[in-house]
Amino acid sequence: MADRQDHWVFYFDPNRCIGCHACSISCKQFHGRDSDADDWRTVTHHEKGTHPASEEYDADTSAPIENVPISMSCMHCHDAPCEEVCPTEAIVKRDSDGIVTIDQDKCIGCKYCGWACPFGAPTYGDNGLMSKCNMCLDQGPGSGAGAESKNEQDDPIQPNCVSDCVGGAIKAGPEKEMVKEASQAAAERFKSNNERVIVEPFQGEENLNMVEHAATPDNAGD
Ligand code: SF4
Ligand code: SF4
Ligand code: SF4
Repeated sequence: MADRQDHWVFYFDPNRCIGCHACSISCKQFHGRDSDADDWRTVTHHEKGTHPASEEYDADTSAPIENVPISMSCMHCHDAPCEEVCPTEAIVKRDSDGIVTIDQDKCIGCKYCGWACPFGAPTYGDNGLMSKCNMCLDQGPGSGAGAESKNEQDDPIQPNCVSDCVGGAIKAGPEKEMVKEASQAAAERFKSNNERVIVEPFQGEENLNMVEHAATPDNAGD
């Protein structure tokens, strides 16, 4: 049985993410997803801070409300609840590289995995079957089940969302490599909480400023 340290995980740094959605668009293009669909990889925007009451607002002292973009996909969980509930064993967490695949030849479209997943990762498709991020094991909407292990490839293909991330905010690789690339704080939290994705702590305003700067008409072409 492969060591969990060899299982592939995602790493995400919200400090480097500029909220541009290039990762989710890249995913949709590579896998033939509907460009309007909110699936496989999604980028959501979260507010950090609280809005002061209008009578209390002071432009000099009020802290800015920060926009924190979060890019997430299937987390390829080590305890995959989707795998546990699948009645046809269509979902497998692969021992060789830890990637969780849905074999569309075995899927009966019962949606149990979609209900069991705490992150809403599996998507019910027009073909009546479930699909989700397969760590780019294979092109197209298929599952990638049965594809060669990433750990057996000489030069494993990086996921498209990683290659096309404008800010360098997403990485993917065996857990032992990703932990080395993470900050100590992120690595410790990942290990002590038994988390599925390594996420850097959000540092502050720089990110907000980048998003606001890009969104200001006066800065078009900067
Ligand atoms: S589909 Fe959900 S439960 Fe299954 S591995 Fe992905 S994130 Fe985990
Ligand atoms: S690894 Fe591939 S399938 Fe998964 S979110 Fe990234 S681009 Fe999409
Ligand atoms: S491509 Fe990178 S920078 Fe752009 S939204 Fe996705 S994670 Fe953030």
